[in-house]
Amino acid sequence: MKKHYDVIVIGAGPAGYVAAIRCAQLGMKTACIDEWLDPEGKPSLGGTCLNAGCIPSKALLEISEYYAGLMDASAHPGIHLKNIELDIKKIQQEKNQIVSELTGGIHTLFRTNGITSIAGRAQLQSDRKVFVTPTDGKKNEELSADNIIIATGSQPIDIQAARMDGNNITDSEGALEFDEIPGRLGIIGAGVIGLEMGSVWRRFGSQVTLLEAQETFLPAADRDIAALALAEYRNQGLDIHTGACVTATECNNNSVTVSFTESGESHQLEVDKLIVAVGRRANTEGLAPKESGLLTDEGGNIHVNEDLMTNLPNIYAIGDVIPGPMLAHKGSAEGVAVAERIAGRTGRVNYETIPAVIYTEPEIAWAGQTEDNLKQAGIDYRTGSFPFTASGRARAMRKTSGKVKILADANNDEILGIHIIGAHASELIAEGVLAMEYRATAEDLALTIHAHPTLSEAVHEAALAVDGEAIHIVNRKAGVK
Ligand code: FAD
Ligand code: NAD
Repeated sequence: MKKHYDVIVIGAGPAGYVAAIRCAQLGMKTACIDEWLDPEGKPSLGGTCLNAGCIPSKALLEISEYYAGLMDASAHPGIHLKNIELDIKKIQQEKNQIVSELTGGIHTLFRTNGITSIAGRAQLQSDRKVFVTPTDGKKNEELSADNIIIATGSQPIDIQAARMDGNNITDSEGALEFDEIPGRLGIIGAGVIGLEMGSVWRRFGSQVTLLEAQETFLPAADRDIAALALAEYRNQGLDIHTGACVTATECNNNSVTVSFTESGESHQLEVDKLIVAVGRRANTEGLAPKESGLLTDEGGNIHVNEDLMTNLPNIYAIGDVIPGPMLAHKGSAEGVAVAERIAGRTGRVNYETIPAVIYTEPEIAWAGQTEDNLKQAGIDYRTGSFPFTASGRARAMRKTSGKVKILADANNDEILGIHIIGAHASELIAEGVLAMEYRATAEDLALTIHAHPTLSEAVHEAALAVDGEAIHIVNRKAGVK
């Protein structure tokens, strides 16, 4: 007999696994189908994020940052270290261990929540039926459900001029697996992945060149912050070219010749490894045959309405597979919201306050509007900034680059955007997100006592600076923009 569920979730990334757990918590009979296999061929939950994205990249960023800190003797002149050795194979083992601890954790959560975990490839049929091809080669089966949540995620985009060969030219997944440090590393795309992976391998000693097609560096970030970031990265030795258009690549024995144009001139770059990091596209190929009637756009993203429901009744889509920022926490928030709605509750996602983070050194984090957004929208605003050079804690840490910048509505002082570049920006941004979620004013933040000495005092001071009342810097005259 065909198995029937209240909810079937397709995909166990941060969107799908969170949706499945919340559905089960809300008392629904839930199954989650996922096809990801680890390098040993065993099912591994957690999707791109845990297996080949957020977690392994952050593990390598942490380890490489630690190594770079050890190598930077000038930071702490009283410490003398000798014989620091790098064993990249052991570092990769450590990273893999971190990944398997976390993916194992999801398996445990599924078991303890009574979720039926099915390792296989799912294909949507009509009438809320799902056809499953198990990864272990066992018999295919057909399941049905009252509700289906599609959370099949995304995969790297490839480009004609640099076809991935799984060896010299690779995507982000391959870039997380190098077991030798490339002497010369090229990266196409200076977006989030390019900058994070470029930072990892630069810290381990690679000579890194990033070729970015757009003239504007980090267009989604506030202009101020992007300019500071570009200067910092270049200072660290990341050779970033904007307006660089890759026209061809040629793989030689152990290297790649990259041809590109920049400012109307042709150039060639010789690298040992080339990473293509030009964005990701929705995983919808083969997911739903035409007869299922599922609507996607020309980029393959699934169409959803405000309730995250597709054009097919009771079939929802969440995470990277729908339009919007491709971020794990955004997908998870959608997963919870859909589960709540299916259970008859009000689930909502506040897209205005989703934080974005780039985990480089310094880190960059922001939420809400940029100055450019506000200017374009014709909204009067005031700004307050505070540099980490004036923070006691940042000085004690010897991490003084960067600043916090707050944008507040000139009419009612509501915080409209917060932008941070500096140490632990990824953690500091949470305060700004919370403030915006509660529609707090800059004054609300300014009246909040922050512990001393902490980096969070820079957020406090930036809020004070909106009114020209910061204590530890000379205030610029507060004014409406
Ligand atoms: P995914 O995580 O892609 O999961 C989808 C799952 O569905 C996969 O397991 C896939 O195998 C499975 N699947 C697909 N099709 C089928 C099918 N037909 N049948 C069965 N299973 C199927 N985001 C952040 O917020 N912070 C970060 O620090 C961060 N770092 C990143 C670093 C890298 C290198 C990369 C590549 C991405 C990073 N991201 C980060 C983005 C983040 O990984 C994604 O936004 C997130 O994983 C999307 O979650 P998802 O659940 O929508 O999809
Ligand atoms: P991205 O959109 O951040 O950056 C891609 C960059 O490549 C862009 O700057 C784009 O202009 C450039 N580009 C596009 N085509 C090009 C070409 N032909 N030649 C040169 N440059 C080109 O995408 P990504 O870095 O690939 O990351 C993919 C997704 O994963 C993003 O949506 C991101 O949100 C997510 N991600 C998030 C994090 C994080 O939250 N810290 C980390 C990694 C990835």
